[in-house]
Amino acid sequence: MKNLLRTLIYDEQVSLTLADTTAIVREGMRLHRLSKGSAYVFGKALSAMTFMSACLKNERGEISLSLKGDGDCGEIGVSGNQALRIRGFIVNTDLQGEANAETERNAPGENASITIIRDDGYTRPFVGACALPQKGGLDEGFEEYFRISEQLPTRIATTVIIDENGECSFAGLVALQPLPFADEETLSKVEKADLESLLSTIKTQGVTACAKENFDVEESVWEEKKAVYKCNCSRRYLTRVLVSLGETQMRQIIREDGAVRVHCHYCNTDYEFTSEDADLLFPKE
Ligand SMILES: [Zn+2]
Repeated sequence: MKNLLRTLIYDEQVSLTLADTTAIVREGMRLHRLSKGSAYVFGKALSAMTFMSACLKNERGEISLSLKGDGDCGEIGVSGNQALRIRGFIVNTDLQGEANAETERNAPGENASITIIRDDGYTRPFVGACALPQKGGLDEGFEEYFRISEQLPTRIATTVIIDENGECSFAGLVALQPLPFADEETLSKVEKADLESLLSTIKTQGVTACAKENFDVEESVWEEKKAVYKCNCSRRYLTRVLVSLGETQMRQIIREDGAVRVHCHYCNTDYEFTSEDADLLFPKE
C-alpha cells in the first residue's frame, strides 16, 4: 500500500507531504522491543525521517539524523534513503512513561541537539545542526532544524498512538514546506494550517482522502510512494567487508574471540563468522 503522498498546494507555492507511518513504527518497535515511552519518541523520529527521505532528489541520496542530549532516552539515530527505506535505533529501549508529550519533552533532556547529515549523492555531504528548543517537543526541534540550517520555514507534525496493549494503532506525519518564492499570504496560510486535523484525517481515511478533502489539487500530479522500515545490512555485504579486511586479520580475530561478531544496531541483528566461514572465504590453494 502506498503510504506517502507528496504534491504542491496553495498555487504551487508549498510542498505538502502526508504519510501514514504506522507500519514503519510497528516494525521499529518489533525489532528493538520497545517500551511505550521509547516507541513514542522513536516513532516520531522515524516519521520525521520518512519526510526528510522523501525530500531527497537524487536516487543515491541518503540522510541521517542523530538526536543527542543528557536525558533518559540516550541517543536516537534514524536514517533513510530516496527509496524510502527507513531505519534507526534508540539507545534506551525501555524508556519509562506513557506515550505522550510529557515523555517526549523529558526524554532528550537538557541541552539536546539534532545533527543531520544529508548526502545528495554528488558532492560532499551537507551537515547541519541545531539545539532542541528548551520547552519544545521533537516536532519543534525538526522545525527549528529546517528554519536554521536549511532556511526553510517548514511546519512538521508527527503523531504516534500506542494503545493499552502497547501496540502502535497509528503513526503519521504531515509536513508543509513553502518554496523559496512563496509570498507572504501563502506563508501565513502555512502558519495557520491545522496539522493535527490533517493527521486525524490520515488516521481515519488515509493519505489520498486527506489530500482530496483538504486541498484543491490536481490528482494527476500527485506523487504516491511506499515507505518502509528496512535495514540495508546483510550477511553478503558483511562478507565483502571481511574479504577486504583480509585473511590474516579475520583469522586473528577468530583466534582471539572465537568468531567475528558484528551487531547491526539499526535492525538489532547479530552476525557471526566462524573459522568455517573463513575457510570458505579464503580457500586453501
Ligand atoms: Zn541491519
